[in-house]
Amino acid sequence: MSEKKLRNDCFALPPGVHWTPVDEVHAALRARLSTVVGVESLPLDQAAGRVLAAPVQAARSNPPYPNSAIDGYGFAYFAAETYDLPLVQGRAAAGQPFQGSVPQGYAIRILTGAMLPEGVDTVVLQEDTTITEGRVQFSSGLKPRANTRRAGEDVLAGAELFAAGHRITAPDLALMAATGVHSVSVYKPLRVGVLSTGDEVVPAGSQAAPHQIFDANRPMLLELISRFGMMPVDLGHVMDDAEKVRDALTEGAGRVDAILTSGGASAGDEDHVSTALKSRDSLAIWRVAVKPGRPLALGVWDGVPVFGLPGNPVAAMVCTLVFARPALQQLAGETARAPQGYMLPAAFTKRKKPGRREYLRARRTADGAVEVFPSEGSGRISGLSWAEGLVELPDGAIDVGTGTPVRFIPYADFGL
Ligand code: AMP
Ligand code: MG
Repeated sequence: MSEKKLRNDCFALPPGVHWTPVDEVHAALRARLSTVVGVESLPLDQAAGRVLAAPVQAARSNPPYPNSAIDGYGFAYFAAETYDLPLVQGRAAAGQPFQGSVPQGYAIRILTGAMLPEGVDTVVLQEDTTITEGRVQFSSGLKPRANTRRAGEDVLAGAELFAAGHRITAPDLALMAATGVHSVSVYKPLRVGVLSTGDEVVPAGSQAAPHQIFDANRPMLLELISRFGMMPVDLGHVMDDAEKVRDALTEGAGRVDAILTSGGASAGDEDHVSTALKSRDSLAIWRVAVKPGRPLALGVWDGVPVFGLPGNPVAAMVCTLVFARPALQQLAGETARAPQGYMLPAAFTKRKKPGRREYLRARRTADGAVEVFPSEGSGRISGLSWAEGLVELPDGAIDVGTGTPVRFIPYADFGL
């Protein structure tokens, strides 16, 4: 059971809206959804991949003290053509600070990462010096504070490292560790259930009669959720039977924060996901101006949001990447950023009419252009696998010729 319940009419749309542009769908989802998961405090070594529930500040500056960036000799800077300085006894090394101070006009052996001893502000590179009888000689060309790192030059204690809503990456762990952050306040992972529906669908790996198809959506959707950094929960498969769909939703809503169903989400006789949601007065059919796509059936079951994805695997995946992911991020407390992608010259031609945004299965060519899968048929699962991302064609008309810049969004930009 989710910590925060949604109202049944959460997804209701004003009447009269027919084909909603993709951007409006995103704005509408943002307006209706908020974080549903609870907060916990975790030590850094358990926090990778979690979403921050509160901003994080540096507990310590990086570097915490002025230190040497190289192996060489440290001294107090003064302007001179050539230097010939007596060396003090001892040395400064990382983890082994020099106890005492270096008088003006003296130098000290110093190693990378060593705290600058009192009296040292500049370091000359070992290779640029000559050592004779306890003295170091080198010629000028150095600037004051050369080859040293200022305390806090990277990060100052107290500076904000991350805002709430940020998902923690490997480099983030390095930054927090370096700045003395020991534990963080994070959201509990969003549990997302995946339920397949359809009389013709049988679990992958089982025996299939000629009229049956293997469940391709469930393994794909479970893995997508896991790549999004959320917790996938397999809710299995149910036949096109209103009672069974309702039971599966009730069972699922008891142990997850959101449910993705596939299949049965249109308005036909066998579309029992829509029928079930309608029975709770929570069904909203969002007609999105997008291809590939069918109407998105959205609803709420026992306070848990249900995303009724199309059964077709291509449409199911595109809808998941484009619509379900930002919605799930919102529920997970994560700040959702629109996948940017980048412009590449087209290695294909296409004349597109205005009225809906289109996503084509695409990949880069060896010479830095982008090609699309030859068949747009949404039954072609092989194209999803062939592709490395999607080309996004704008809502308006576009006449793509060879070399026309088009937006390529690699799967990685969708969190995969
Ligand atoms: P539906 O959305 O139920 O009308 O299904 C649309 C198409 O997707 C039909 O051809 C279904 O057989 C197919 N389909 C539905 N669910 C799955 C699934 N889990 N895996 C593969 N194909 C499916
Ligand atoms: Mg069906």
